[in-house]
Amino acid sequence: MKQLVAFSNFYGADPELVVAGGGNTSMKENGVLYVKGSGTALASIRAEEFVALDMAKLMKITEKTYPDEDAAREAEFLADILSARLPGEEHKRPSVETLLHALFPQRYVLHLHPNKVNGLTCSQNGEAEARRLFPQAAWIEECRPGYILAMKVREKILQGADTVLLQNHGVFFAADTPERLGAMLQDMLTKLDGAIAAGYDPALDTEPSLKGPFTPDHIVYCGLGPDLPDTDVARQSWASARKIAHYAASFGGQKPMSEDMIQFITHWEAESYRRKQA
Ligand SMILES: [Zn+2]
Repeated sequence: MKQLVAFSNFYGADPELVVAGGGNTSMKENGVLYVKGSGTALASIRAEEFVALDMAKLMKITEKTYPDEDAAREAEFLADILSARLPGEEHKRPSVETLLHALFPQRYVLHLHPNKVNGLTCSQNGEAEARRLFPQAAWIEECRPGYILAMKVREKILQGADTVLLQNHGVFFAADTPERLGAMLQDMLTKLDGAIAAGYDPALDTEPSLKGPFTPDHIVYCGLGPDLPDTDVARQSWASARKIAHYAASFGGQKPMSEDMIQFITHWEAESYRRKQA
């Protein structure tokens, strides 16, 4: 647990890797998943802010059939996640990405929203460039977070993926040691530095216009505009979006979230919970 808290605080403190309550981490031990609580921040998280859940109960979720309708599905999915909390943990709310963490067989999972990675995942040529630069990583097209995303990533995990790039969202790394997680992240950032420098097209660097929110974080912390909320978190998140737009100029230019996804995130109960915590 000490190691989990240490690497969570370490990566969480770097605004290039994660802003405010974005990103999350986890550890598995003796059939228990310890995952970041929703609305907590990696930079300052303490051991008691991780939520302990029964792995066996979480894995049962993958065998269930859920309703097709968004609100009904997510309500039932959330209820199942919450009922997997160990006794004494009922006052905590686990990360919206809890099931994803459970699905990786590795001991540790690190999920970040790095600006450079999102320069790639929020770009016009993101998928093709990801396949070229990171052939070992899985690429997940934009999809509804929560249950749908977890089940899509599950297919890739079953094929052996330990690195997953999520379009308009971020990246997951899974490994059995914190050192290995750090090496995976560093390797990706180094390759991105090279690609960003090599592919940069000033004509696509259309500052100051942002074409729309890039990731759920931007909706949660900045709102949909036109005015930015008057908070530090909103300003940090906005600065992150500016950098993403800049880096995306090396990968064919920026690609914001789709209108459908913006609607989903805006109305998703899990994100309105996170917004209230911010
Ligand atoms: Zn995320």
